[in-house]
Formats: sequence, structure tokens, C-alpha cells
Amino acid sequence: MTNRADIDQRAAMTIDGAAHSTQSANDTTIAVSFARATNLALISIDGTGSIRFVNPSAAKLFGYERAEMIGCPVTIIIPERMRGAHTGGFNRVAGGQKPSLGGKTVEVSAIKKDGTEFPIEITLSVWRDENGMGAGAIIKDISERRERDSKLLRMANQDTLTGLPNRHRFIDLIRDELQAERPLTVVMLDLDGFKDVNDTHGHSAGDCVLQAVAVRLPYLLRGDAQVARFGGDEFAILLPNVGDPIAAQSEAKAIVDAFATPFDVAGHVLDLGASVGFAIAPAHGSDEEELIACADYALYKAKASGGRACRMFDHSMKSETLTRRLMRDELLHALRNGQLELYYQPQINLEDGRVFGVEALIRWNHPVRGLLLPGAFLPALDQSALALEIGWWTLDQASSEAARLWAIGRPDIKVGVNLFPAQLRAPNLCEKVAGSINRHGISANALELEVTETIALHDNDKSLEVLTALRQTGVGIAFDDFGTGFASLSSLQRYPLTTLKIDRSFIANIINRPGDAAITKALIIMSKELGLDTIAEGVETEEQEQALRLLGCPSAQGYLYGRPVPAANLEQMLVAQPLAKLANM
Ligand code: C2E
Ligand code: CA
Ligand code: CA
Repeated sequence: MTNRADIDQRAAMTIDGAAHSTQSANDTTIAVSFARATNLALISIDGTGSIRFVNPSAAKLFGYERAEMIGCPVTIIIPERMRGAHTGGFNRVAGGQKPSLGGKTVEVSAIKKDGTEFPIEITLSVWRDENGMGAGAIIKDISERRERDSKLLRMANQDTLTGLPNRHRFIDLIRDELQAERPLTVVMLDLDGFKDVNDTHGHSAGDCVLQAVAVRLPYLLRGDAQVARFGGDEFAILLPNVGDPIAAQSEAKAIVDAFATPFDVAGHVLDLGASVGFAIAPAHGSDEEELIACADYALYKAKASGGRACRMFDHSMKSETLTRRLMRDELLHALRNGQLELYYQPQINLEDGRVFGVEALIRWNHPVRGLLLPGAFLPALDQSALALEIGWWTLDQASSEAARLWAIGRPDIKVGVNLFPAQLRAPNLCEKVAGSINRHGISANALELEVTETIALHDNDKSLEVLTALRQTGVGIAFDDFGTGFASLSSLQRYPLTTLKIDRSFIANIINRPGDAAITKALIIMSKELGLDTIAEGVETEEQEQALRLLGCPSAQGYLYGRPVPAANLEQMLVAQPLAKLANM
């Protein structure tokens, strides 16, 4: 058994190399204290590879008592698989060669008494003295640093929710392909209806969907395809060696089609679509960021077309998208700064000339371009979140106007509000409508929501459900622009409608095109049979009005009775002539 003083003494001798002079004795004492106190693990071995010295930090690090280690071969701290390399190197140095690792810091694996392996950083030094060769090592446990490094590396390259490569890694992957001068296709994918899942079923359901997508996509794609998640519900796919538009299109379409199968998440069957845009290298771009941007423009187009679609990039998309984005930014600013305003256009009962309703129509008081009509800015909204924001604002404004009409003694006038497609699809439409009604203290039948037949038919079952729920609250529902879309006449019976608005294209030609007159007549009869009100839109002349009367049309709206006017002018108009026909105002 070796005693502690002996160990320290020998250690000091090894560290110092010579302990004969007074100075040396002094150095030895300092070296011993230093070796005992330091957090660095110190180990030295002799020419046979046996451990001659360990300091307390080293013993603790490897899980031994110091005395246990002394005299043992140093291989007790070296993992089995690395012992051969160690012995080879050691023998070369013992044989007189210069140590290749001398003075250098290297990272290797070490093993504890209990067998656990861990990473260490080790700095070696080799010397010769009267006892022959000696070698010492300063050892640092780097487990924590390794852990941190690998976490950072993972985070830098991987999306934590799905385990897929992230945007950063995806860019590297594209770059590698481009450098090898191979053609490729970059696909961007965005889920349709993902926000609804989050809103209705909560974020954990949303996360499950994203994880399910991360499983579904690689499964349906070719083996060399790389799927990445960019964040949110946005995924990207790299198809190496696909440079042919037809091949790319068919891959992209397969992705869209794969989403026809609903997701089964936490007991919910979720029907989600995918919109896909893609760009091809080298045809559309030769740089990774550019290709992603191109695929993104195409994705935007696919989304704007109503979703569940795929589009290939073409150069016109770029400028168009940029203009729309600028317009949207400007519109958001307009909404926040009170530049948007609702105008109101009267709706007339053709029997007595009485105004029974007004339609709210949005206008933009543009600081530079003047008063803008919806055609100049609404298309930029498409399916964007801003459409919802503007839609809810419109609903609220129109409700406040209904309250004002009530206050000036015209509670008989209902206010028509146009809905954006996004509003009809929003899961909180009913609450929003109820909220506006309550906030302004109006009765539900003071509002009539206008939806175009195309919008209503888009999500057939869902919109029927939500419109039915709305109708049950007492709110009126009008089919707008009727006759221009694909609604069958039987849909008039299925939907819970109060009003049918005949599109103005029929009225415009009612005098000179017998076909249009015949359609108008049929719609009027049908609508009356079903107990709906019928409004002819876009009535501009006395002749048109006369023709409509003859066909039995009960109501009309158009320039003949009044153009859309600001709220203040509407009040004047109604106060001045509450019940009279408003022609020529
Ligand atoms: P719409 O719902 O069919 O609205 C009627 C449009 O016809 C209005 O155009 C109105 O000014 C115009 N109009 C009325 N009488 C006549 C007429 O005698 N002759 C002609 N040629 N036109 C007439 P406006 O205000 O430019 O709105 C265009 C469209 O924009 C609306 O068509 C509606 O689809 C949409 N829109 C307007 N305001 C809103 C809104 O607040 N929300 C939503 N979601 N859409 C809106
Ligand atoms: Ca309308
Ligand atoms: Ca209309």
C-alpha cells in the first residue's frame, strides 16, 4: 500500500523532474499543493505505462481512490477499442521517437471505474529524467461542452418539432446539389386550413398535424428527396435530379393529392389540404435563396387560387406578388389609420319606392390616389389574414350604421354586409357576427350578410352549416351576384336564404337581350316561390326598372336610385325623403 505523502512526493518529483537543491525542494512543495488544489485532473505515467501519480481531481473524475490507481496500467482509463492506438503511440515514444501529441490538446474518450465512457480534453507532455521516460497529462471533462455543442449543432440544422432539417440545413442541401451542377426542383408547401386546426382544436393538435405531415411527406416521395420544415405550417422539399417541368409538375401534384387523405389526430379526423409551388434549377434560378423565393411566389399563387393546388414559378409572378405585398402593407396601414370607409347604397321596394335596405360598400380614402373603389385594392387581399381583419372591421362598422339608422327613426332599414371568402371559412364567424350585434345593440335582422354563390358553394357542407347557424340567430343571408357562378337552382332551396340578388350583368341587357330577360324572369319567379326577396342589381335606367316591374321584380338597387354615399350623406338622404322614391338624387 502506498501512503499519501509518498504519492505526492513522487508526483512532485515527476512534475518537477529534479528535487535536490533547496530551490527544488521549495518548488516541490508548491507543485504538490498546486496539484492537490487544482480542478484540473493530472495524471503521470512512467516508461512502462504504469500510473505513477494522480491528483485528487483526477481520481474523482475517474471514480477511483487515488491509491487504487497508482501502479495500474494507464489503459484502465482508456476505452478498450482505443487501447491499441494508445499502446502503439506509447511504444514509439518510449523507443525514442518524438511524441506526435506532445504539448497539443486533443479530445478523446476516457472510461470511468464504473465503465461509463465520457469525452475528455487532454494535454500531454513527455520528459526524461534519471528514472527514465515519464509522461503527464492534464485532463478536462468536456461532457457538458460536448452536450451543448451537439445540441447547438442539432438546433442549427434541425427543426425541433419534427426532427426534419430546418431552413438553414435545407439551403446547404440545395447548395451542394447546385455546386455539383445537377438539376433540381425546389418545392414549397403550405397547409390549407392549418390555422383552423390550431384555433379549433388547440396548438397541441396543430403540432401533431405538423409531425404527421413530416412522416407523410418522406413516405410518398422518392428516396433521394429531402423534406425540411421552415417553420409554422411551411415545408420545403428538394427533389435532386428533377429538372424537367413535366416531371416536377407530376411530383408536385402527387404531393397535393396525398393530402386528400384526412389526418387522424387525437381522435379528430382533420381534413387539410396542401398548396404547393415549385421552381426548377437551372431554368428559374441558379442560387439557393433565389430558388426558394421563386418557389414561394408560385406557392403564393397556388394559395391565392383557393388552395389545394400546385403552381410552377414563372417570371411574371415575381412582380405581381411584390405589388400585392406592397398593397397589403399599405392597406394594413390604411385600416389602422382610418383611411377605410364604408359607403352605403340604397335598396328600393319597387312597389312603393321605399328604401328598405342599404348595402355597405368599402372605399379607401387614399392620401395620394384619392378615393379608391374596391376593385382597385380588394384583389390584393386574396385569402390573406388581412382580409379577415378588414372583414371584421366592415361588419362592425356596418352594425354601428344599423344602430345609427335605428336612432334616427329608421329601424326598418337593414344593412347588407359583403363577406370575404375567408370570413365564411373562419371558425368564429358566428361569434364575430353576434359580437357586433351585441356591441351596437341592434337586432339580428338589421343585418343581411351577402355571400356570392361561388363562395358559398366552395366548401359546400361546411358553409351550409355555418350559414344555417347564422340564419338561426335571425341574421339575413343574401346570395350575391346570382346567375354568374355555378350554383344550381336547387341550391336556392338548400341554403337558408332571405334574399336573392340578381347579378347586374343580366339587368344591363334586360332590354336588348331576350335571353337575359328570360333568365331574370325565371329567377324572380323561383325566388318568389321560395319565399325570398329578390333584388335586381345595377339598375341604371327607367327602362330597366320598367322591364323589371313587368317581370314582377319586387326590389332593386342601382345608380337610378342612388350611388353609394358616405354614412353622413345617407342619413341626410333618408331624413329629407324618408319614404319617397330616391330617383335622381
Ligand atoms: P357587389 O357586392 O356586387 O356590390 C355592388 C357593386 O355594384 C358596387 O361596386 C356598386 O357600387 C356597384 N353598383 C351599384 N349600382 C350600380 C349600377 O347601377 N351600375 C353599375 N355599373 N354598378 C353599380 P363597388 O362598390 O365598386 O364594389 C365592388 C365589389 O367589391 C362588390 O360587388 C363586392 O363584391 C366587393 N365589396 C365592396 N365592399 C365590400 C366589403 O365591404 N366587403 C367585401 N367582402 N367585399 C366588398
Ligand atoms: Ca354585394
Ligand atoms: Ca352584387
